[in-house]
Amino acid sequence: MQRRFPEIFEQAGATFSFEFFPPKTPEAQGRLHQQVAELKTLSPSFVTCTYGAGGSTRQQTGDIVAKLGKELAVPTAAHLTCVGHSCDQLVEVLEGYRKMGIANIVALRGDAPADQSTFTPHPEGLRYAGELVGLIRKRFGDAFGIAVAGYPEGHTDTRCKLTDLDHLKRKVDAGADVVVTQLFFDNRDFYDFVERCQIVGIRVPVVAGIMPIVSRSGIMRMAGLCGARLPAKLLRRLVAATDDEQVAKIGIDWATQQCRDLLDHQVRGIHFYTLNRSSATIEIYRRLGARDSQALAHMARG
Ligand code: FAD
Repeated sequence: MQRRFPEIFEQAGATFSFEFFPPKTPEAQGRLHQQVAELKTLSPSFVTCTYGAGGSTRQQTGDIVAKLGKELAVPTAAHLTCVGHSCDQLVEVLEGYRKMGIANIVALRGDAPADQSTFTPHPEGLRYAGELVGLIRKRFGDAFGIAVAGYPEGHTDTRCKLTDLDHLKRKVDAGADVVVTQLFFDNRDFYDFVERCQIVGIRVPVVAGIMPIVSRSGIMRMAGLCGARLPAKLLRRLVAATDDEQVAKIGIDWATQQCRDLLDHQVRGIHFYTLNRSSATIEIYRRLGARDSQALAHMARG
């Protein structure tokens, strides 16, 4: 049986995890296979695969997670969102994950589909990620490890950052084992968030979400979606870049600096949003002087 989050985070030292998304075309599937093979040498602590906003990629999440687990021989987590699902359907998906041997879930509310301005729950479904955590614990006990999302800069729907943190606390109290943050580009936002988590009594590990910028259009889309702030120093460099190759170099530089600083601050874990590419993550490890995740964990211990 795969290790669940409580066992993964029980051991000393930082974790280093990679996130993938289900590819939309057979060509992209082939590329993902190749990228995963390249990332194998980095021996991540666990890998995860996102759950699509709707449509056919949703069925792929479990299959990809099961395959990633075998190929990389590491623990895995499947993401699951409440969007468009009744409670019965959510339980059905979870039962499928369990049969596939998936031991961890990233439990999320999800975003409103592109043609809707606000999130509307399924009439027989759930409104918040905390309710999904509760459903998993009620129906499956401790069979799954559970991660939930945290927002160092606040979630885009919430005006009040204090209530945002109360909502995060509720998710943790409902049974989450770990918080994985939204991507951020200024570590001060993360350190402040971790401290605020401590103040409201969140005791589970808080893992930093890092996304190396790989293209100008990509970062505009992501920043628009999740509301991440681009610090002036980073924005200045991106604006001056003349092509995507330069943008990717800047992205790797910036993410490497973020990781180095996080390691110096004994971060509990770093979750890389790989965007299904291996090169940026591999280059960050190389620049940090680490052969694999064990070497990075050693650095985090100082
Ligand atoms: P929630 O925790 O439910 O929060 C949503 C909003 O409701 C917040 O503003 C919160 O403050 C508020 N809220 C929460 N609980 C309560 C309550 N009890 N009462 C009142 N207000 C409340 N999206 C996907 O579609 N697929 C993925 O696979 C995916 N993976 C992700 C992984 C990570 C690590 C992160 C950070 C995000 C991911 N997302 C994914 C995006 C995520 O679905 C969106 O950010 C979404 O808008 C919120 O999801 P949530 O689980 O944080 O929601």
